[in-house]
Amino acid sequence: MQIGLIDVDGHNFPNIALMKIAGWHKAQGDDVEWANAFFHYDKVYMSKIFTFSPDDLTTYDADEVIRGGTGYDVKSQLPEPIDKWLKPDYSIYPQHHFSIQFYSRGCIRHCPFCLVRDKEGYIHPVEPMELNPKGEWIEVLDNNFFANPEWRWASDHLFAQKQPVIFHGVDVRIMTEEMAWHLNRLKLKGNIHIAWDLPQIDLTERIKAMLTHVKAHKITCYVLIGFNSTIEQDLHRLRTLKSLGVTPFVQPYRDFENERKPTQYELDLARWANRLPLFKTMDFADFMPRKGFKCRKYLTAL
Ligand code: SF4
Repeated sequence: MQIGLIDVDGHNFPNIALMKIAGWHKAQGDDVEWANAFFHYDKVYMSKIFTFSPDDLTTYDADEVIRGGTGYDVKSQLPEPIDKWLKPDYSIYPQHHFSIQFYSRGCIRHCPFCLVRDKEGYIHPVEPMELNPKGEWIEVLDNNFFANPEWRWASDHLFAQKQPVIFHGVDVRIMTEEMAWHLNRLKLKGNIHIAWDLPQIDLTERIKAMLTHVKAHKITCYVLIGFNSTIEQDLHRLRTLKSLGVTPFVQPYRDFENERKPTQYELDLARWANRLPLFKTMDFADFMPRKGFKCRKYLTAL
């Protein structure tokens, strides 16, 4: 069969579903390539992860066009044999020199702004995939690495790969000193990403526990704003992170339908907090994002 692939979001990050599709079809003896509107295919797979990416409206000449990914349908699933395929074909993304790995899918939580539980269910271990033969480091995309009941095995498995690791989903709310020790044992590339999304939960002590083994400058903390939080709560989280030496990354809330637009305040806060030299050297009140406008105005309006 002739198989065409479309990565609707662009090629900035390898799309695991498409790599599994490519690997599985090649193993069946099929020809796989990026789809070209001038050729005929037996099947074209279009994958769209993000709701905010514009759709590809090209008409492809194919007997079957299969659209999948959260950007099309949160419940969409790969056919079982492809989903279970553990040899993703990294050759379709030769520009990316890293591996993607999952040790679990799903999550223990059901945060109101997140689709993971709806899409993947409660946390469950999964078998790790083969690594990119040309990979120089591993991006671990578990939603909640340490909530996996098999996290010690996963940590040992990662350690045995002897490659630098980037973690995307470390839940500081369940962080223990033992977990922090495991993190510290690995060769980390870039920062560990944690999140302080809900201002109602004070994470100060948890972050301090993490800091017993992980240096503050190795941690980036996502801070969700614009989802039921006040300016005081936003600034409290940011000032706490600053006092602990942890780098914040402010993310204005985006709804699933991508209809909500961030307010000017949210854009200004993100502009200040996400530029480390600004964040470290001045208070938000003194930040001037535009000529004649100081962010102090947001605070005096409270
Ligand atoms: S902890 Fe993270 S992955 Fe889990 S539901 Fe909340 S936001 Fe989603």
